[in-house]
Amino acid sequence: MKEKVVEIISKYNGDRSRLMDILLDIHDWQGYVDDASVDVLASELGISAAEVNETISFYHFFSNKPRAKYNIYLNDSITACMRGRAQVEQAFENECGIKFGTVSADGVFGLYDTSCQGMNDQGPAAIINDLVFTNLTPYRVKALVDGMKEGKEIKDLVYEANGDGNNADPDMQVMVQNHIRKGGMLLDKNFEPYAVVNNMLKDKSPEDVIQIVQDSNLRGRGGAGFPTGLKWRFGRRVEGEHRVIICNADEGEPGTFKDRVMLTEFPELVFEGMAIAAYATGADIGLVYLRYEYRYMLDFLNRKLQEMRDANALGKDIGGIKDFNFDIRIQLGAGAYVCGEESALIESLEGKRGEPRDKPPFPVEKGYLDYPTIVNNVETLAATVKILQNGSEWFTSFGTKDSHGTKLLSVSGDCRFPGIYEVEWGTSIREVLQMCGAENVQAIQVGGPSGVLIGTRDIDHLNKTELMNWYKPSGMMTAEKFFDRKLSYSDLPTGGSMIIFNKDRNLLEEVVMNFMDFFIEESCGSCSTCRSLPQIMKEKLEKILSGAGVRQDIDDLLSWGKVIKVSRCGLGQTAANPILSSILNFRHLYEEHIQAMTDYDNTFDMEGLVKASCDFVGRKPVFHNS
Ligand code: SF4
Repeated sequence: MKEKVVEIISKYNGDRSRLMDILLDIHDWQGYVDDASVDVLASELGISAAEVNETISFYHFFSNKPRAKYNIYLNDSITACMRGRAQVEQAFENECGIKFGTVSADGVFGLYDTSCQGMNDQGPAAIINDLVFTNLTPYRVKALVDGMKEGKEIKDLVYEANGDGNNADPDMQVMVQNHIRKGGMLLDKNFEPYAVVNNMLKDKSPEDVIQIVQDSNLRGRGGAGFPTGLKWRFGRRVEGEHRVIICNADEGEPGTFKDRVMLTEFPELVFEGMAIAAYATGADIGLVYLRYEYRYMLDFLNRKLQEMRDANALGKDIGGIKDFNFDIRIQLGAGAYVCGEESALIESLEGKRGEPRDKPPFPVEKGYLDYPTIVNNVETLAATVKILQNGSEWFTSFGTKDSHGTKLLSVSGDCRFPGIYEVEWGTSIREVLQMCGAENVQAIQVGGPSGVLIGTRDIDHLNKTELMNWYKPSGMMTAEKFFDRKLSYSDLPTGGSMIIFNKDRNLLEEVVMNFMDFFIEESCGSCSTCRSLPQIMKEKLEKILSGAGVRQDIDDLLSWGKVIKVSRCGLGQTAANPILSSILNFRHLYEEHIQAMTDYDNTFDMEGLVKASCDFVGRKPVFHNS
């Protein structure tokens, strides 16, 4: 055993920062990381066993206990639930004879819940031994499990043909579908890969490139919206032995799957954007942080990188430009939503727990291995290629005054055509609903659980001073005008996730509860606010839904929603949004449940609770009047 672990470590030159890769290889070899392997890792890498264990324990897809022959990770995102996840879960449990969260006694089956797998347009989906199975039904589950009981290879149990486009590439061969419903400047096959890097950069200085991107007003497409040109300028200014470009391909926001499609169909565009960023900033190290759920793409993407090297668009003296040296490595994650936050992602890239860092210093000053580091989203990087090709004026001719270019939307939920839509900024919600065939719409979650839940209700009656502290829609909203809101940085900013709920959905019990569970599960636990308040707020919501809530409970939720904003990173700062945003736009649903708008709980059963607690500890209750 020791020899094998040492062999894996030496494959990565004993580099402690490659711990993620080393652990992934150990999982591939023996299914989990046992204590003996931990000891070898600690001594060979010069770190403590506790440091190894804390990395293992952080990620969903790592385990320090034996897993099964077939490990089934079933997605529990809201869209999966809307498409029959409960029946699929039941079918797995019945057929495998075990509950979720356990491994069968014979070690054949392991059932696990996971967060969004980036398959919201084709769920419920499961990852079984790294292969993606989409559109699951109880019938398909039975056939799958029967096949596993016969000991078949997992790839022989695939029940649908390969998906469209590159999903059918020999290096992928998955049943995943792209579902590209509307293309635009990015989703356009009519482009010549690496033309900018090989033909255009030699006539431009790095400063020229930064200025063009700055003039385009391109803002980060991951959700934060930071100006890309400015980020590149900051990164170039900081001194460092090396500089680093990171492509954040860890899209984990439930409802988001656009980066999956970009990487499947347009990887050349994304990688070329990284090379442009490297030229502009003087970076020589490129890293793609690819979420584990997209592991099926790894061979395909590595092949594309090799093709890029062969075309002299990566490597040494790229595009014939002397000393323009840059290469890209893909680092797999291991399942942690918080790693979408750039400093958490960097920690993970260094082989540690994906816990966000305190800022400052920001990654542009001190990032990966303390080098100046620029982290850009998949879509942002792809857009820079088009900007360099066509100019900043061309780019600013798309969109609105403050939001230029296009946006990729991942649309899912209650609509006829879920999938990817590339729209200009300034497109209204109503237009998106028409495009995707959504009817009878009650609400839309824009930007995933950390975004906002909007609907058609008139909110003019609400106490805006209090509610708007955390969220400021532009102007007064009236009924129906909600759907006329436009996707833009000044009105409705979004990282691209849009989940549609029709009028048959129970927004509080189905949707908000699911989102709160998500944040509770994904908190890294560093901040007491993020660690505890989502759970407390969820329990308060449960109290309201049980009919025991009072008006004060809604006020408590609003005030706790402000407290949680002090959390260190975006996860905690937005973890109350499902509740806050539903109170803002669907307050009537809360008020329907509370007790005649009273301020005290008139159903509180003191005697019942005292009796229950006495029963629990084996005492005889004594009441004052008994
Ligand atoms: Fe971790 Fe939450 Fe704090 Fe972010 S806000 S650092 S996820 S505990």
